Amino acid sequence: MTEETDHGRTAAAHGSRIDNYVDRYAARATGMVASEVRALFAVASRPEVVSLAGGMPYVTALPLDVVGELVADLVARRGPVALQYGSGQGDPHLREQICEVMRLEGIEAGPDDVVVTVGSQQALDLITRIFIDPGDVVLAEGPSYVGALGTFAAYQASVVHVPMDEDGLIPSALEETLTTLARMGRRVKFLYTIPNFQNPAGVTLAAERRRQVLEICQRAGVLVVEDNPYGLLGFDGEPMRALRADDPDGVVYLGSFSKTLAPGFRVGWALAPHAIRDKLVLAMESAVLSHSTFSQLAVGQYLATQPWREQIKSFRELYRERRDAMLSSLEALMPPGCAWTRPAGGFFVWMTVPEGLDSKAILPRAVAERVAFVPGTGFFSDSQGARQMRLSYCYPQPDRIREGVRRLAGVIEQEMEL
Ligand code: PMP
Repeated sequence: MTEETDHGRTAAAHGSRIDNYVDRYAARATGMVASEVRALFAVASRPEVVSLAGGMPYVTALPLDVVGELVADLVARRGPVALQYGSGQGDPHLREQICEVMRLEGIEAGPDDVVVTVGSQQALDLITRIFIDPGDVVLAEGPSYVGALGTFAAYQASVVHVPMDEDGLIPSALEETLTTLARMGRRVKFLYTIPNFQNPAGVTLAAERRRQVLEICQRAGVLVVEDNPYGLLGFDGEPMRALRADDPDGVVYLGSFSKTLAPGFRVGWALAPHAIRDKLVLAMESAVLSHSTFSQLAVGQYLATQPWREQIKSFRELYRERRDAMLSSLEALMPPGCAWTRPAGGFFVWMTVPEGLDSKAILPRAVAERVAFVPGTGFFSDSQGARQMRLSYCYPQPDRIREGVRRLAGVIEQEMEL
């Protein structure tokens, strides 16, 4: 099969028309194909479907009237600044506030170490842009965040997955993978990890493993990219200590207000050693000139005037109730042979269906029964994940979650009988 027919089929598979521009795209556009999550959105957003697919934060729980007043006040009082271009590194006051947020995870950093980005997604894009040449290896947990895999593919990185268990990334597997890659002469640029309440697996990297992962990466000269949008959404106890807290030179930390406030502001950040920070600012400016001053000041104003720690606490309680609804109904309803993770925070459960079943094949039948999930294959760059699926509990109400699990359990039971 030629490259061209392959592209044409990819386009067709995602429902678009025949692509007449195929022979003109840059090579890097080869990796730009719609993710399975994205192809699903249209179907899963129909009201009769219980969507356990998307990972949307429940922003309805915010005091929206307060946010509205704050935004109106911002325009009235500081309009000429808020509606103007801003600096490439981001609003200095917001960067100070970001340092205060990161202190909750043991990170000591100053505003000059931080670069504000358009969500942490842009930070991921910029990091990949400044480190990856085509063919360079990025290590990522298997499974990993679909948006990061899309970015890595867009820059023609070669993603090698490192397995996890219920305590997160397995250090001995990381070490073995690095040894094998070194033997093959492959250049590993960074390890991409989501240590807390991982997307999609829902697991958390155990405290003793954090030290091991850092040591292994230090020894191998591999940078760690720590992506931590869910770290403050743990259901028990204090937030885990960030990897970055113990290795300021070896870790680039990515944070976001998308889950602790609202994704619509599109405010995230990267905390990086100064040499990397300088490159990030330049790459940021060439991508978007400056990010939205308006959004940054609105988030800054929210943090300065609102009880944001209390708000995060109430998000935690809300998501904990939904996690409980999902786990108890999985326990009660799923047929034998199904296994799933038990997240202590965040948005996601990762479920494995019995041998012989294929989650992608189940999906159309599940949608016909008015429930949606994300098949596991989208969370891998290789062929893994056929028996897995991501179930998210962040958005639907507990009753809807229970109903969704009931429908899904019925579909899986039927599949097992086939
Ligand atoms: N990383 C992970 C692990 C995520 O789950 C998400 C959002 N789903 C992002 C990064 C991007 O978030 P944002 O750009 O909204 O900060």
